[in-house]
Amino acid sequence: MSEQDNLREIERAEYIEREIKKTGVNLTREQADQLVSYYDMIVERNRVMNLTRIVDFEDAVAKHFVDSLTLCRVIDPKSVKSVLDIGTGAGFPGVPLAVAYPHLNVTMLDSVGKKIAFVNEVIDALHISGEMKSDGETGGRNGSVRAVQGRAEDLARGEYRENFDLCVSRAVANLSVLAEYVLPFVKKNGCFAAYKAHDCDEELEGARKGIRILGGEIEKIDKFSIGDAGRCLILIRKIHTTPARYPRKAGVPSKQPL
Ligand code: SAM
Repeated sequence: MSEQDNLREIERAEYIEREIKKTGVNLTREQADQLVSYYDMIVERNRVMNLTRIVDFEDAVAKHFVDSLTLCRVIDPKSVKSVLDIGTGAGFPGVPLAVAYPHLNVTMLDSVGKKIAFVNEVIDALHISGEMKSDGETGGRNGSVRAVQGRAEDLARGEYRENFDLCVSRAVANLSVLAEYVLPFVKKNGCFAAYKAHDCDEELEGARKGIRILGGEIEKIDKFSIGDAGRCLILIRKIHTTPARYPRKAGVPSKQPL
């Protein structure tokens, strides 16, 4: 790396640290460096596959990294251990959460194999899998990180059912459809945090019945802005076990929302 590249790397890491600090999360330099590397991997891979429309550095920091870490507005990530990110795409919000909170066991799920292959490359490159190497090192983590391919409706019928303290999802489906994808994975008394846009009132009203049927209860609705983007986090607590007939077969939730 040339001296100039090295300086640019330091400036980018400092920028990330500063922006993320505004959400109340303090990153170490090593964590900020990991996010710089992650950004570079996304930009590189985006040349050959469609991962994101947001490639400008400052835009990506705001709309991907800061946005992912706003989770702490509605729940303290330190209060949970296992997290599932459903429809993770290029790894949002799962990768920033895994980097910022090394104690977490993070599982990221997507139906598209190429996206999961990319997220697995990121996990390897950032050394965040949490697996112990031959020298006994785990990269400072005591949580594990993995990416799994499959449709939410199928995986919710197996070992992952009611197995996570917290499930998160961003930009995957309308809330009533999303609730059927996500709530079956949440442990009783655990939570689901949906990352939504500011104007989600109608969507929320349309989802209330489904959320109740699936065992959930809306606990918090937090509207805020990141720059000029209006955002909303909806925190749903699972107060009852999800009835065994949900989720319905793959494809049904999106065609016939509850
Ligand atoms: N969460 C990421 C983000 O915010 O950048 C990706 C959002 S992308 C618009 C939606 C992702 O959800 C896609 O990668 C898609 O493959 C995945 N997805 C949609 N329906 C799914 C399902 N039923 N099960 C698993 N993944 C799904």
